[in-house]
Amino acid sequence: MKVAFPYMGTTVIYKKLIELLGHDVVEPPEPTQRTIELGVKYSPEFACFPLKVVLGSYIEAVELGATTIVTSGGHGPCRAGFYGETHKKILRNLGYDVDIIVFDDYKSDKTGTIKKVRRLKNGKSWFYLWKSLKTVYSMAKSLDNIEKRIEKMRAYEVNRGECTKAWQTIKTWFDEVENIEDVRKTEGKSNKLLGEIKLIEVPEPNKIKIGIVGEIYVVMEQSINLRIEEMLGGLGAEVERSQYLSKWIDFNLLPKGIGKEHELNILKKGEKYIQEIIGGHAKQTVGHIVDYAERGFDGVVHLMPFACLPELVSQSIIPAISKEHNIPVITLSIDEQTGAANTLTRMEAFMDLIKSIKRTKIA
Ligand code: SF4
Repeated sequence: MKVAFPYMGTTVIYKKLIELLGHDVVEPPEPTQRTIELGVKYSPEFACFPLKVVLGSYIEAVELGATTIVTSGGHGPCRAGFYGETHKKILRNLGYDVDIIVFDDYKSDKTGTIKKVRRLKNGKSWFYLWKSLKTVYSMAKSLDNIEKRIEKMRAYEVNRGECTKAWQTIKTWFDEVENIEDVRKTEGKSNKLLGEIKLIEVPEPNKIKIGIVGEIYVVMEQSINLRIEEMLGGLGAEVERSQYLSKWIDFNLLPKGIGKEHELNILKKGEKYIQEIIGGHAKQTVGHIVDYAERGFDGVVHLMPFACLPELVSQSIIPAISKEHNIPVITLSIDEQTGAANTLTRMEAFMDLIKSIKRTKIA
């Protein structure tokens, strides 16, 4: 099978799994203006922005020869649960002959999930599949640890762009791994590379820490969020995201009781403001803002895709949380019209505000 996947975040991880299972990988290109235009053109006008970008990305993958797309589904009250079916229908109407395999909540359809896994494991043994999954999971953990380190370092690099360049190199190294041992060695080599980057010394009280919260796709996919992490890093802020792939795997795919404490704790912190799961990551969004405030972060950037109802709800509660926990929060609505210059100006103003609050606190 010629297999593609949705382009989101550190794609070398999904690519590796498909490769280890012996399929031909068709890696969709990183989303560009063309991807967005294709998605916007063929999606329902009222659809949320990630649905449109993912559709554009699928079209580009099919143009490159993909015959099968593997993706995760969604459940709960927002549109995520309809992505698979909606994308399938649109692609068929456009005349593309492509199969979409959607992995949804395995507890609700165990037989169906096993059938899909059998197709994907491509005749390999269950033991081989288990080993491959372990390799890919350890890759996700390592890459997330490295990325978190970079998100802090970027604020202090002497030569602008060095951390981003190192990150690109590191991803190509991880593209070569075959097993867990390789992952460990590559993580060591990557940390060594990062250790060689020259950084400006900044006293702890002067450091600025910003959390990024919101809907998972716009938080994780830098090509459509105006590379907000690099932008904030360039303005001198350490950054931490609310969403990382390994954390998503822990919460959604690991068996009950394993690796879920962090997310459960975040949901608990959001309980006061949103009692129900209303779809997407809205409850986590408010929980993370509380968490960042408690951990002494200086501000939060909230990313909200255009036409995303769950994040619209969290946005309406954010002013109260911001006031109660004394932390500035800025919301950016992400859609095809989002301009970099406008966002940069807003981020500069946000940083000025944070610096003046910090000065007042120190004085
Ligand atoms: S969380 Fe928002 S953007 Fe994501 S699928 Fe649901 S409605 Fe769409």
